[in-house]
Amino acid sequence: MVRLHMKEVLVGVLRKPDSTALEMARAETFRLIGAVLTCLNAHPLSKEGWCPACDSADCGLRRDVRLALLPFDHVVDQAGRHRLSS
Ligand SMILES: [Zn+2]
Repeated sequence: MVRLHMKEVLVGVLRKPDSTALEMARAETFRLIGAVLTCLNAHPLSKEGWCPACDSADCGLRRDVRLALLPFDHVVDQAGRHRLSS
């Protein structure tokens, strides 16, 4: 269900008229932030930077979120192509 919703948002933002895409993007921003914070709350870091969920100082979730939030110029697929380049 989440994947379908995210797919609909992505397709809408990329393919709908600008006014509709802007409205969709604005509506989703707060939901996206809430979802990321909810995920991060499940991986709280200690004062020393240790994640008990990952049992590591290199929290896998935080690393994945950090990579997912890189600017588009830095987002490449497994073949090394930019995901959103035309
Ligand atoms: Zn973690």
